[in-house]
This record gives sequence, C-alpha cells and structure tokens, in this order.
Amino acid sequence: MALKVGVIGTGMIGQDHIRRLTKVLSGVEITAVNDIDVERAREAAPYNAEVFDTPQALIESDNVDAIVICSWGPAHEEQLLACIAAGKPVFCEKPMVTSEESAIKVIEAEVAFGKRLVQVGFMRRFDSDYRQLKRVIDSGVVGTPLIYKSVHRNASVPSHYISDMCLNDTLVHDADISRWLLSDEIVGVEVRYPRRSNVGGNDLKNPVIVLLHMAAGAIVDVEISVAIQYGYDIRGEVSGETGVASLPNRPATVVTDMNGIRQAMPEDWRERFIEAYDQEFREWIIAAEQGTATGPSAWDGYASTLTADAALRAADSGKFEKIAMIEKPALYGEQHAMAAE
Ligand code: NAP
Repeated sequence: MALKVGVIGTGMIGQDHIRRLTKVLSGVEITAVNDIDVERAREAAPYNAEVFDTPQALIESDNVDAIVICSWGPAHEEQLLACIAAGKPVFCEKPMVTSEESAIKVIEAEVAFGKRLVQVGFMRRFDSDYRQLKRVIDSGVVGTPLIYKSVHRNASVPSHYISDMCLNDTLVHDADISRWLLSDEIVGVEVRYPRRSNVGGNDLKNPVIVLLHMAAGAIVDVEISVAIQYGYDIRGEVSGETGVASLPNRPATVVTDMNGIRQAMPEDWRERFIEAYDQEFREWIIAAEQGTATGPSAWDGYASTLTADAALRAADSGKFEKIAMIEKPALYGEQHAMAAE
C-alpha cells in the first residue's frame, strides 16, 4: 500500500517535490496539502488530495502517514513539533529551524519520543558525486583530510535575498556537507569579505569567504558567490596528507562553434541536484514506511543552525567565533555514516 503523504508549503520547492512524489517516484501518494495561501495549495494539489486549512489539521489527519514540510523556515519548529507529537515521520526542508533554542526543542521532542522521525533536506548527501568523494575520503587513499575547499556559486539570486542569507541560508549546505564528508563537527567560524562584486545589483556583500574550523583541526574554505552570472557552479576538493580528491566536472554535451569549445553549466540547484533530490526522497519513503527516518537528522539541522549563527556573529565581529554544542543524544549515534544506497 502506498505511503500517504501530506505536503505543507506549496511554493517553489513544495511544487517541485509534489512533482517528484507524483510523477517520478513510486510507493507514495499525496493525500493532503496545505499552504498559508489556500488558493496556492489548491492549485498545487494533485488530483484527489485534500486541501487543509491548517498544518495542524493536515498532520493529525488519519489519511496522512508522513509529512513533507516546505513552508518557510520560521514556521518549521511548530510544524516539526506537531509531527513528532503525532508520531509521524517528517521530511523538513532546510533550514530545519531558525534558532538554537528551536533546534534543541526539536531534538528534545524526538529524543523523548524515542525514535528518529525527522529527516532534514540536505540533498547533497544523496548526490552520487559527493557520495563517491566521501567513499574516497573514508578509504584513506588521500590520507587524513587537512583542507576542504567548497565553492558555491549562484548565477543570481532573487531581489529579497539579502547579505545575511549568504550565511544563514546558502552556507548551511556547505556546512552540512563538510561535516558529513570529514565525519567531524564544526567548532568555530571566521568570515571575510573580499572586494565586492558590482554585478547583481542591490547592496549585497558578495562574494564572501567563510572558514569553518573542524574539531580535528582541518579547515574548510567556503567561497559563496551569488551573482556569478554564468550558471550554478558547485565544487569540492579535499586535500589530504598524501593526495587530493575532487568532485568531477559534471558530464555535459560539448559544444564547438565560433566561440570555442565549451560545456553548459547547470542553471540552478534544481538542475544540478535533480537526481540527488529524487534519491533523498527514495530513501525517505523507505524509512517512513517503517515509521522512522534516516539520512540528515535533527542533530545535523541543529549543527547547521549553530554554524549559521556563528557565521553571522563572525561577520559582525571580524573575529573567530566559537561554536559550543550540547552533548549528542545517543539517538543520533553515528550521524556521519552514509545512508544505505
Ligand atoms: P517559497 O516559494 O516562498 O514557498 C514557501 C511556501 O510556504 C509559500 O507558499 C508560503 O506562503 C508557504 N508558507 C509560509 N508559511 C507557512 C505556514 N506557516 N504554513 C504553511 N505554508 C506556509 O519558498 P521555497 O523556495 O519553496 O522554500 C521553502 C523552504 O525550502 C525554505 O525553508 C527553503 O530554505 C527551502 N529550500 C531548500 C532548497 C534545497 O536545496 N534543499 C532549495 C530551495 C528552498 P507565502 O508565500 O504566502 O508566505
């Protein structure tokens, strides 16, 4: 029998996940949708799905086994806590929540429930290139990782995107993938602003360099550029004691013409990570059918929230800003293991 899923938030990514859950993946049926804008929910609702007036009513419906949260970040805490109270598996888009206090509440609720229910939308962990890079690092072939370089370039960003979002919205993906690749926690953050780009308009402080200090001593150097114009360019390279391992260039058709020889770049994250999003949901469905969750956890959501907070502090102070974590509950065990493929 298909897993009955309710989707909260039917904006850009909510609609994309509804498409993937109805047209790409099997074993799942969308039975319910909700959005703060009821008309938007109605337009996005697949045939036969019920449109609910409130997230709470959707979560409690007997016709919903598991929930996908795609509303905006500040609404996530309340919706996650309601899912945990109902004992239903939940996929929550990043950011899991928007404050340390909220993250701890989610962790405490899940720990009190006694079983993992929350998966956070860090889709890079499901990308085949990143998975191969992690296998290489874990194999020890390049030796102990010393430096990881993470490049995150967007062609452009919408007009509501402000400078802080580089640190509390965009950076979370680089922070999470660094923790996962290096099997380590971030203990401190520095932020540096190089010469500002004049491209992209508004008053964006762009680009930005973020240094993530890992507990074992490795340093992650993140470049975030959000108005690079030429496409969506994601890179990663680990320098170990005895070698270097990099994400491959994505295969794309080579075009030769009077302008030279070139390969197209993905336009945005939807194109670059399309297969990763599909895989992320394949694995979520398998776990949700068992009434639980695997993949990026509430602990990972908490860690990325702390990193974003520290990065904002570091941008203000110009100094190294320390991160202090609570003791990790046993429920989150070995969070850096690769999920079953
Ligand atoms: P969006 O287009 O603004 O969609 C969010 C939707 O949720 C909107 O329809 C919004 O309505 C609705 N909403 C807001 N508060 C709500 C509430 N309390 N209950 C129900 N619905 C509510 O934003 P988006 O780009 O889809 O992003 C949604 C989430 O996904 C964000 O957390 C974002 O960071 C994340 N995201 C993740 C990735 C990724 O790579 N993993 C990529 C993109 C986005 P209004 O517009 O009327 O407020």
